[in-house]
Amino acid sequence: LKENNVDLFAERAEFDDEHGVMAYNRTLQRPGKANQIRPMEEWIVAVGKHPGIIAGSDWGRVQAMLDVNKSKSYRRPRSNAALLSGLLRCDECGDYMRPKLTNRKNADGELIYTYMCSTKERSHGTVCSMKNCNGNTLDAKIIKEIRKLSADRETLTRLLAQTKKVISGSKEGYDAELALLREKHTETEERIKRLVESLSVASDTSAKYVMEQIDELHRE
Ligand SMILES: [Zn+2]
Repeated sequence: LKENNVDLFAERAEFDDEHGVMAYNRTLQRPGKANQIRPMEEWIVAVGKHPGIIAGSDWGRVQAMLDVNKSKSYRRPRSNAALLSGLLRCDECGDYMRPKLTNRKNADGELIYTYMCSTKERSHGTVCSMKNCNGNTLDAKIIKEIRKLSADRETLTRLLAQTKKVISGSKEGYDAELALLREKHTETEERIKRLVESLSVASDTSAKYVMEQIDELHRE
């Protein structure tokens, strides 16, 4: 913490590897923006009264590892403007397309972000080769379509009715199928019962035949 110029409100001896450390002013929270971690020199750190969870030495080691791997870490846009994060799927492999921020700006001065297939990213393009998609352009197009829809009451009402029909329609179909299966199940059990009863009076040859039938019904 000292190396990173963190403001320390505790003496060296208070960091006893027993009590937890509390950090204030660690994140920057703004409406409409994803939380950002502030630079460490802006943190204020004190030792709390609560027991710690992670040993300071472990934490330090992990920070060093994170620092080494910094260039590999996933970078999300610094705004929560990426509309389709968690919605957009890759047409080649079906994995999610995640927003990735670039350093470039577009004509509107917005930082350009692209949607990239997660499998492609993880496999360095060996498993999936889907092209990246310009996030700013795609999101703008989606917003335009949604605006159009909200202005067009008639289409919106029709789409909502269609969706409702699909949802309730499939439920009705499911209920009907379930009722049919239940009926058939009861019937099959009745048949098995009758066959088992007939076994007591059956000859060896017909018993074998009856048992085969029972097996088949049981599988059914
Ligand atoms: Zn893919």
